[in-house]
Amino acid sequence: MSETPRIHLGSLLRTSSDAHAEGNLDHLTYPQGGAEQTLRFARPAPFRVDVNSLGGSEMYLQGRFQPALILECARCLRDVEVPLDLRLGTLLRYDPSVGAPYLDEAESGEEVLVFGDPDLDLSAYLAETALLAAPLTVLHAPDCKGLCQVCGHDLNEGPCEHMAQVPVEEIDDLLGVPEGSAHSRQNPFAGLRDLKLPEE
Ligand SMILES: [Zn+2]
Ligand SMILES: [Zn+2]
Repeated sequence: MSETPRIHLGSLLRTSSDAHAEGNLDHLTYPQGGAEQTLRFARPAPFRVDVNSLGGSEMYLQGRFQPALILECARCLRDVEVPLDLRLGTLLRYDPSVGAPYLDEAESGEEVLVFGDPDLDLSAYLAETALLAAPLTVLHAPDCKGLCQVCGHDLNEGPCEHMAQVPVEEIDDLLGVPEGSAHSRQNPFAGLRDLKLPEE
């Protein structure tokens, strides 16, 4: 079920026959920036691909991939399910000198997936295709209140003692701003975080 998605292109390369692969993926593991990344799915994600020879070392892959991605809400970090229905269509080029498969640009400007192992691992290709199609930021609900910037409390579950110091719009602006930077100096209530407030 969670096997690496592979398509065997050895006989296609020898005899120009077509190749087919399909399955369901629990998740995808792929290398990015020297680290191993995992793309999580809410349920097994069906994929199927067909590859046809275009002559020589070029071929065309088409298919379908329907993952329900699990992404984090940009404000409160809880899991958000993002279902996708992706049509796949990509040129392939076999180059035995290539290690891990990578996306390159063909002379036509089209993307081409270059690979060196006829037992082609589609993990990175499928992960990249899914992430490109997914929204850059997701919210678990349009009116997500986010986390308190002071104590980290999930404001969707009710107010905390720091309530209303930082409007949600500002929280979005502040995402990615390192702690202790301009934010704490500009916020007139920032000093409150040092005060011990009486428990109610
Ligand atoms: Zn949220
Ligand atoms: Zn708080």
